[in-house]
Amino acid sequence: MIQKSSVMRMCIVCKHTFDRRTLLKITNDYEQGIMFNKGIGRSAYICKSEKCFKDSKLRKKIQKALKTVFKAEFIDIFEKEIANLN
Ligand SMILES: [Zn+2]
Repeated sequence: MIQKSSVMRMCIVCKHTFDRRTLLKITNDYEQGIMFNKGIGRSAYICKSEKCFKDSKLRKKIQKALKTVFKAEFIDIFEKEIANLN
Protein backbone atom coordinates (compact mmCIF):
# COMPACT_ATOMS: atom_id res chain seq x y z
CA MET A 1 0.00 0.00 0.00
CA ILE A 2 1.28 3.43 -0.95
CA GLN A 3 1.06 6.01 1.75
CA LYS A 4 0.71 9.60 0.74
CA SER A 5 3.08 11.64 2.80
CA SER A 6 1.39 14.43 4.62
CA VAL A 7 2.97 17.63 5.76
CA MET A 8 2.92 17.98 9.52
CA ARG A 9 2.72 21.30 11.26
CA MET A 10 2.65 22.29 14.89
CA CYS A 11 -0.27 24.02 16.54
CA ILE A 12 1.15 27.11 18.25
CA VAL A 13 -1.18 26.67 21.24
CA CYS A 14 -1.00 22.99 22.23
CA LYS A 15 2.32 22.31 20.43
CA HIS A 16 1.05 19.07 18.99
CA THR A 17 1.71 18.27 15.36
CA PHE A 18 -1.09 17.61 12.90
CA ASP A 19 -1.60 17.10 9.22
CA ARG A 20 -1.37 20.57 7.75
CA ARG A 21 -4.73 20.19 5.98
CA THR A 22 -6.56 19.92 9.29
CA LEU A 23 -5.11 23.11 10.70
CA LEU A 24 -6.11 26.72 10.38
CA LYS A 25 -3.23 28.60 8.83
CA ILE A 26 -2.63 32.25 9.49
CA THR A 27 -0.07 33.91 7.27
CA ASN A 28 1.51 37.30 7.45
CA ASP A 29 1.60 37.87 3.70
CA TYR A 30 4.42 40.06 2.41
CA GLU A 31 2.10 42.30 0.49
CA GLN A 32 -1.39 41.90 1.91
CA GLY A 33 -0.84 41.47 5.60
CA ILE A 34 -2.48 38.77 7.66
CA MET A 35 -4.61 36.22 5.84
CA PHE A 36 -6.29 32.89 6.56
CA ASN A 37 -5.29 29.77 4.67
CA LYS A 38 -3.53 31.71 1.93
CA GLY A 39 -0.72 34.12 1.35
CA ILE A 40 3.03 33.78 1.34
CA GLY A 41 5.16 34.64 4.31
CA ARG A 42 5.61 33.74 7.94
CA SER A 43 2.82 31.41 9.02
CA ALA A 44 1.32 30.12 12.23
CA TYR A 45 -1.01 27.15 12.59
CA ILE A 46 -3.71 26.40 15.08
CA CYS A 47 -5.58 23.15 15.40
CA LYS A 48 -9.34 23.06 15.47
CA SER A 49 -9.76 21.81 18.98
CA GLU A 50 -11.89 24.11 21.09
CA LYS A 51 -9.29 24.34 23.78
CA CYS A 52 -6.86 25.89 21.29
CA PHE A 53 -8.96 28.28 19.26
CA LYS A 54 -10.69 29.48 22.42
CA ASP A 55 -7.42 30.00 24.21
CA SER A 56 -7.59 33.36 25.97
CA LYS A 57 -4.12 34.27 24.76
CA LEU A 58 -4.63 33.02 21.22
CA ARG A 59 -4.37 36.42 19.56
CA LYS A 60 -1.25 37.23 21.51
CA LYS A 61 0.31 33.90 20.63
CA ILE A 62 -0.39 34.35 16.94
CA GLN A 63 0.97 37.86 16.88
CA LYS A 64 4.09 36.65 18.61
CA ALA A 65 4.50 33.73 16.21
CA LEU A 66 4.03 36.00 13.21
CA LYS A 67 6.15 38.76 14.70
CA THR A 68 3.45 41.26 13.95
CA VAL A 69 0.62 43.21 15.53
CA PHE A 70 -2.94 42.76 14.33
CA LYS A 71 -4.50 45.84 12.83
CA ALA A 72 -7.75 46.92 14.47
CA GLU A 73 -9.76 46.01 11.35
CA PHE A 74 -8.24 42.56 11.30
CA ILE A 75 -9.29 41.71 14.84
CA ASP A 76 -12.93 41.67 13.71
CA ILE A 77 -12.13 39.35 10.81
CA PHE A 78 -10.12 37.19 13.14
CA GLU A 79 -12.90 36.86 15.70
CA LYS A 80 -15.38 35.90 12.97
CA GLU A 81 -13.04 33.32 11.51
CA ILE A 82 -12.52 31.78 14.94
CA ALA A 83 -16.27 31.79 15.62
CA ASN A 84 -16.76 29.87 12.38
CA LEU A 85 -14.74 26.99 13.79
CA ASN A 86 -17.42 26.22 16.34
ZN1 LIG B 1 -3.85 22.89 19.28
